[in-house]
Amino acid sequence: MSRRPSPGRRRPFAVLVLVALVTAGVLTGAPAAQGAATHRPVIVLDPGHSRTVYAVDERTGLVVSDYENEPEMRDVFAVAKLVAARLRHDGYRVVLTKTRLHQRRTLAQRAAVANRVHAALALSIHDQAGRSGGVGFRAGNNIVYYQSVGAYRSTPSGRHVVFRDKAVAKRSKTYARIFARQRHAVQRATVTSRRNVGYDLGSRGLAGGNMWMVQLLSRVPWIYNEAGGNSRGRVGLTAADRRTYAQALVRSVEACVPVPHRT
Ligand SMILES: [Zn+2]
Repeated sequence: MSRRPSPGRRRPFAVLVLVALVTAGVLTGAPAAQGAATHRPVIVLDPGHSRTVYAVDERTGLVVSDYENEPEMRDVFAVAKLVAARLRHDGYRVVLTKTRLHQRRTLAQRAAVANRVHAALALSIHDQAGRSGGVGFRAGNNIVYYQSVGAYRSTPSGRHVVFRDKAVAKRSKTYARIFARQRHAVQRATVTSRRNVGYDLGSRGLAGGNMWMVQLLSRVPWIYNEAGGNSRGRVGLTAADRRTYAQALVRSVEACVPVPHRT
């Protein structure tokens, strides 16, 4: 949701400009800071799931609801915070699609965040946890989904909304290869990359089709990560496995979109 600034709010804008100029080194004569402030790549992190929320996207007619899934939601939020801290430390600008664990966020709102900030790369973080149906963190479910032309989701009336952006699809595929390689190196597990979900999501009671909604609604390259969600002997991830997942994602991002060298 964007708010239009009212004419009576000039002063905060002037302050912002001043802060921006100082940050960019224009007023302080610090040339080194200029590049750092203006060329930091923007990365959007999308920790999966939300308190249950129902919504229809006005633009496409797609159902963009989301649901709570524990302990996955808690674990991947923790992973996202680890990734954010590391990337910020390394010179990236990081934006999260949800900033509180129990925040309600539709899938369209998540995509809108990445579109609004023109992210160089967005990534979803999910895992498969649970007493039944959960997958061991070292056992499998390591999948990297990318956007591909022709993948789609269906509206309730059966209309297909198809992904058609060739340039984004190309970049997304390139990034997926890098994610698969880097995640493999860190997690020491087989990681596969996929152009679509591979089955009809309608069979799971979601909107029909074969593409993750956030990727379909995104106008930037978006990598959707899955992993095993159960650490050895427990449901959910230990702190150590959360760190491993986070480190794998950090290495992936930094290989896809390197921070320009500061000179
Ligand atoms: Zn999930």
